[in-house]
Amino acid sequence: MKRREFIKMQGQGLLGLGLGMAWPLGAVAESTKPIVLSTWDYGLRTNDVAWRLLSEGGSALDAVLAGAELAEMDPDNAYVGLGGFPDRDGIVTLDASVMDHGYNMGMVAGLEQVPRASALARAVMEHTPHTLLVGDGALQFAKEQGFETMNLLTPASEKAWKRWLETSRYQPGVNVENHDTMGLLGMDSQGRLAGVCTTSGMAYKMHGRVGDTPIIGSGLYVDPEVGAVAATGHGEEIVRAGGSLLVVEGMRSGLDPEEACRQVAQRVLKQLRHRGKDPALYQACFMALTKNGQYGACALQPGFTYAVQDAGQGNRLRQAPHVWSKL
Ligand code: ASP
Repeated sequence: MKRREFIKMQGQGLLGLGLGMAWPLGAVAESTKPIVLSTWDYGLRTNDVAWRLLSEGGSALDAVLAGAELAEMDPDNAYVGLGGFPDRDGIVTLDASVMDHGYNMGMVAGLEQVPRASALARAVMEHTPHTLLVGDGALQFAKEQGFETMNLLTPASEKAWKRWLETSRYQPGVNVENHDTMGLLGMDSQGRLAGVCTTSGMAYKMHGRVGDTPIIGSGLYVDPEVGAVAATGHGEEIVRAGGSLLVVEGMRSGLDPEEACRQVAQRVLKQLRHRGKDPALYQACFMALTKNGQYGACALQPGFTYAVQDAGQGNRLRQAPHVWSKL
């Protein structure tokens, strides 16, 4: 199969009009299967792992899970799994979700001691009649399933937490400095879609706080008739907007992925303004892939990057457009 990526100019080809300059307005990025997308700069690394499986004919589900696991087991990634920033009590709690082309889904939230949160979400999907397990119940299930447990607080994340305790000022962060939730979307050579989202959530959050990542429809959604969407950023705002499912519905109604993401980023902005909040303090980022291999992203603020890998152009980092900027 000849794989390629091209930019299809739909209509006028005007420049981004304040929506970020990454793409001309109306430009649709396309690829052919297999393909994998991952959030943030780290996504180049998770893509590589996922791609190894995809390029050998592996399933999208296995591929995205393998990528997520790389981040989760990396003690130097402070936003996911082992070494993730703890909550304000010094406890690392993880959230993850997974969904496949058959509307199958699994979620875990408030998970302690088990770094492979996304694999556990998959186990919920495959080995329970439920969709979401939280806290102690999730941990108990993990042990029953033979998952390895460990202290997730590394010396580096503990040190950062102790530094934070000196002021204990809680200002949920807005960008790459404070967020690195890994969202991966994949389509395999058979055209099957899958997605995963995994995070340690907002650094120094309240114990028990859960964001958008393990909430299917907010942090992640996969619809085999339309495409797949993952979100990262300020979980509360993504949940408030019903983020990922809303992007899917935009694509279902005919919007290209970037435009569908843009409209939901606009929705987040509108809701912030409605509530009298300063958009400068928030971030919400959406990344989407259609079942036909079109992909795109858009964020509230500048700074959201995502990585795309396919056979045509290899693995590359893209800057998402945005709908609001301080400047
Ligand atoms: N969305 C995540 C949360 O709110 C944070 C992130 O994307 O880094 O928990």
